[in-house]
Amino acid sequence: MPGMKILNSGASSLGLQLSPNQLEQFEVYYHELIDWNRRVNLTTITGYDEVQVNHFLDALTVALVWQPSAGSVAPRILDVGTGGGVPGVPLKITFPQIRLVLLEATAKKAAFLHHLRDRLKLKDVEIVVGRAEEVAHNAQYREEFDPVLSRAVAPLPALAELTLPFCAVGGSVVVHKKGDIEVELKKSSRAIDTCGGKLREVKAVDLSEFPDKRYLVVIDKVSATPEQYPRRPGIPKKRPIR
Ligand code: SAH
Repeated sequence: MPGMKILNSGASSLGLQLSPNQLEQFEVYYHELIDWNRRVNLTTITGYDEVQVNHFLDALTVALVWQPSAGSVAPRILDVGTGGGVPGVPLKITFPQIRLVLLEATAKKAAFLHHLRDRLKLKDVEIVVGRAEEVAHNAQYREEFDPVLSRAVAPLPALAELTLPFCAVGGSVVVHKKGDIEVELKKSSRAIDTCGGKLREVKAVDLSEFPDKRYLVVIDKVSATPEQYPRRPGIPKKRPIR
């Protein structure tokens, strides 16, 4: 009785073929998420169909703008403010060759991620507990990743400062955005520029599973981020670069 039918058909419209084994991993992920969600606030979306669409498939839409290329070195990917693991974990299940770092400020959520990693037997997944504002100044993580991903963490002006410092020059940042993003984009141009980024593309996600407007904002990292960024915890959100 294979589950995850909605995810499976959505993934194939993205050109992704999920194996029975991968679908089983998503099934386990779903049940662990719901189980832990009784103790740790991981998600407000809990229905079987809704999680497939709004967490798993939504994460996989990244494949519209980025996929690991065959044969080259395993890409190193960072998910900033991953919460219950989205978008990083669904992408790791789909593309097992990626090396993934999950960054999350809340220790309880990180405990879930450790458990999930074990349950799914995921290799090359590192979980870092901390604030992006601090971790980005650690040489081990600074300008090391391509792509840097983030969903539902902050408005774009702040998010640029929280993600671009992690991105390797020549790489890119890919963030999920919803709704009317024109104003948000305009307000973020200074922050993107200051942190060494250049807006490449705003890709509209056109899948029948999503009745609302969803986008992937792709920002190329064209030059190194000046050392003073990101500023202290809380500052990027409170006083975004304008
Ligand atoms: N990306 C997940 C979770 C979104 S909720 C999803 O799309 O479902 C936002 C998460 O980001 C929370 O878990 C919060 O703890 C984390 N977060 C917010 N600001 C952060 C920061 N500055 N550094 C690290 N994590 C942060």
